[in-house]
Amino acid sequence: MVLSELRQTPHLSASSINEYVECSLLYKCGRIDKLPMEFKSDALEFGTCIHRVLEAYYSAKMMGDRMLLKEVHEFFVFTWLDMARGRDDIRYADGNDYNSLLMFGRDLLTAWYTKLPDDDFTILAIEEAFSFNLPGIDIPIIGAMDLVEQDSCGTIIITDFKTSGRAYSKDEVDQNQQLTMYQIAAKQNGYGNREILLRFDTLIKTKVPRFEQYWTTRTELDERRLIKKARQVWDGISKGVFVANDTSWKCKGCAYKKACDAYLEGEEYDQASNQ
Ligand code: SF4
Repeated sequence: MVLSELRQTPHLSASSINEYVECSLLYKCGRIDKLPMEFKSDALEFGTCIHRVLEAYYSAKMMGDRMLLKEVHEFFVFTWLDMARGRDDIRYADGNDYNSLLMFGRDLLTAWYTKLPDDDFTILAIEEAFSFNLPGIDIPIIGAMDLVEQDSCGTIIITDFKTSGRAYSKDEVDQNQQLTMYQIAAKQNGYGNREILLRFDTLIKTKVPRFEQYWTTRTELDERRLIKKARQVWDGISKGVFVANDTSWKCKGCAYKKACDAYLEGEEYDQASNQ
């Protein structure tokens, strides 16, 4: 199973459920109407680039090889160059540009590489795509786990790679629904009888770059809550309920702002306000 293929057919995912809850019009613009994005954020592109570097590192480790820091840097430079050089659709945040992120990426990866624990976990999978169905939802839940490992006791460790502008709080990690979804997926895909630990490997883009590993677990109650929420989201989607949450923090960096304004201020808006 490859995630890009799974994405071709209607589906839900941890991120799409989250997006629907935060702004269902944003969900509709991107995932149903498939409108072209007005821009791509530098944070998104940079995060994707860092993700590819970590994927390459663990692919080499899985083959019994450990990339040197120099090789990590070289891979990053090559990937960033390939992804971002000359593109005018990337919107850079204040103070950032192609070159500054090229420099910063190396420092960030140095912080990650030097703090990464030298564990002896066995790598079971990298970018492990999954798809499963839940009763009451007509389309599959899909996603991919960045890294699946196993320790010497047989415990499964599922890791998600993150690039973040700040450190996470304990509550954020303990309540994150992406990790909950990974646990549900793991249980549905062969790890039902195993103890499961969840982890964020977070490269933090503070002025002095940092790396933190955040560990957490999920209970069956956590799973039930997310499944209930997924059903409510599907109910809203299937009934065509899409509400613009135009006081959301997401509006400032929304890549569908023009389409959203046209929707809110267009004919449908006029009709509603004249009633
Ligand atoms: S601009 Fe705000 S309200 Fe409009 S689609 Fe984007 S996030 Fe939603």
